Amino acid sequence: MHDETDLGEVCPECGTHHRVIESIPAQPLTQSLVEELRESTNFTFVRGTNWISAEDLGLSTDQEVTEDLIIGTQTKALYLQLYEPGWVVEIEEKPFEDEDETVEDVAQEILLFVSHDREELLFEMLEIISTELDPTYDCPECDYLETGGSTLARNFLFHLTESHNYTGEKALSVLEECTLDSG
Ligand SMILES: [Zn+2]
Ligand SMILES: [Zn+2]
Repeated sequence: MHDETDLGEVCPECGTHHRVIESIPAQPLTQSLVEELRESTNFTFVRGTNWISAEDLGLSTDQEVTEDLIIGTQTKALYLQLYEPGWVVEIEEKPFEDEDETVEDVAQEILLFVSHDREELLFEMLEIISTELDPTYDCPECDYLETGGSTLARNFLFHLTESHNYTGEKALSVLEECTLDSG
């Protein structure tokens, strides 16, 4: 969701109806609760992703929990995230019937798209591309200057986050700029 205020509305930005799915308990879910949901509901697909330690959320269980769910109904796949009022629809997609796509296909695609592991994968790809393009890593904050031939992209990211307290996202965008400039 782009803004908490558009809850329950059809979003002008992405066309999604960001509503709460009332049939899912409004709490972080453990693996066993996700399985329970799979068995007790009519959802055709139920998967959690981006598991985190419950302790980090201040919960008194040592199991991992999720605040990211991908579910399938008879006709659509949905990506839900947990907010204050409950599980809110972030993405809602129908399969392409012409291409014999099923709800499960779409759900699997969404799962791949929203799982954080994917960021890791993208980063690895970026690392390989960076090595081939031999970009110049020019730090906007100090005189750190290296090339893709002399250091890894991840070292440059490390420099930005450790020496200059950049957030991961900001550091990635600086890296991207350096990579694109040399491309
Ligand atoms: Zn939206
Ligand atoms: Zn620097």
